[in-house]
Amino acid sequence: MKTLRLRPGKERSLQRRHPWIFESAIAKGGGDSGETVRVESHDGQFLAWAAFSPSSRIRARVWSFDEAQRIDAPFFIAACARSIIARARFDVQSDGVRLVHGESDGLPGLIVDRYGDTLVAQFTSAGTERWKGVIADALLRETGLAKLYERSDASVRALEGLPPATGWLRGGPTGAPGDGEGPPLELTIHEHQWSLTLNIAEGHKTGFYLDQRDSRKRFADYTQRLGFKDVLNCFCYTGGFSVAALAGMRAGGGLADGHVTSIDSSGPALERARAHVALNGFDLNHASFMDADVNASLRQFLKEGRRFDAIILDPPKFAPTAAHADRAARAYKDINRLALQLLSPGGVLFTFSCSGGISADLFHKIVASAGADAGVDGFILERLGGAPDHPMTLEFPEGEYLKGLVVMRKG
Ligand code: SAH
Repeated sequence: MKTLRLRPGKERSLQRRHPWIFESAIAKGGGDSGETVRVESHDGQFLAWAAFSPSSRIRARVWSFDEAQRIDAPFFIAACARSIIARARFDVQSDGVRLVHGESDGLPGLIVDRYGDTLVAQFTSAGTERWKGVIADALLRETGLAKLYERSDASVRALEGLPPATGWLRGGPTGAPGDGEGPPLELTIHEHQWSLTLNIAEGHKTGFYLDQRDSRKRFADYTQRLGFKDVLNCFCYTGGFSVAALAGMRAGGGLADGHVTSIDSSGPALERARAHVALNGFDLNHASFMDADVNASLRQFLKEGRRFDAIILDPPKFAPTAAHADRAARAYKDINRLALQLLSPGGVLFTFSCSGGISADLFHKIVASAGADAGVDGFILERLGGAPDHPMTLEFPEGEYLKGLVVMRKG
């Protein structure tokens, strides 16, 4: 059995059950890629069983803090089962559900999303890579499903020294005549009151932004209650918030004069956004789509004197880690300042950051300083986070990657 001996004092985060062991904490020891190692304090006390990642700055990730626990197939079956059972207790209004959310579910480096009868998994650590076959079988066994597609093409895999890997892991084409490419990659989910499609091979992440499910619903509720007529959805991807806005207008009786403008720099995402408007029974006269840069578009709208009743800002990750925080903070501040200037009095901004490197507190300060620069004051109506199937835990605060604020411009 291989061991990792930590430097004096470096046992503290593990004693608080935080699952990461940084390269700088290690005095000696190691193992092969993904191998289970016994982690000990400087004086030889057992701390955890962890998966070794020889090329990552996070040099090991904890599987268990229990010395008696064996890290074997039954361990992964039990961990997958716990994670899936927890989802049954969360309030998830969709058949698109995150079943395993990495560290928060005790499975660092594993993401599993379920879209109807299809599972899509991302293996982003040396440990999950090593146990991939066992985990794949455990997921099928615990869900009763047969189809599992792998989307291990996230950039973080490079930090682990792992090449990208995509394709069917289970339930794929058999090679039999007429079987073709295997099961469909194009799927439809039913979220709240709307239908949305995705492609599990080509979409972002595992195909879709499930984490924004309830913020989309929240936006629909605000639209219905406050009667937004002119909505701007920035970084719209496949238009989930655009459909939510139109659904809110319809529910509030204001669809006849409603309009949603959606901006994204991805042509294929916009095509799908347009299809989603039609799929949900809305006339395309109520929607326009701009294949453009958000920052430039906001500046152009300001020049033109345009105003909106509500604006969504859901940009990509500007700061993947804390090291990018400064530059990211300026980028967030810029778009938030422009958006606040573009709001009508009484208008509402839904603004988000999905950057792990920007804390909720820092994000709040960035938006506040954007308001100060814009000369706009606003009420913070609420704070938003990821949907409940993307949980954070007491022990792993890094799990809070997605944060949002709902700000109403003072009238
Ligand atoms: N709100 C979406 C998810 C947004 S993901 C949802 O609910 O599904 C971020 C999107 O920003 C991606 O679609 C990406 O194509 C787009 N994007 C990234 N940089 C951009 C830019 N500078 N201007 C416009 N869109 C951009």
